Amino acid sequence: MARCGAPTKAGGRCRRPVVTGTSRCPVHQGQWSAYGVAQRKEKEAKEKKRKIRKKR
Ligand SMILES: [Zn+2]
Repeated sequence: MARCGAPTKAGGRCRRPVVTGTSRCPVHQGQWSAYGVAQRKEKEAKEKKRKIRKKR
């Protein structure tokens, strides 16, 4: 399982497992919402392309 890895106020790194489809845990998704949304869109676009290819 991938870890969140976001820097914490304590100086360490977040050890929570990431949410499937994103690169951050639920706690840090808020801070990185824009980043997460961009990644989601990219993944969705790739999946759509794959589906179209499969249909053809
Ligand atoms: Zn985190």
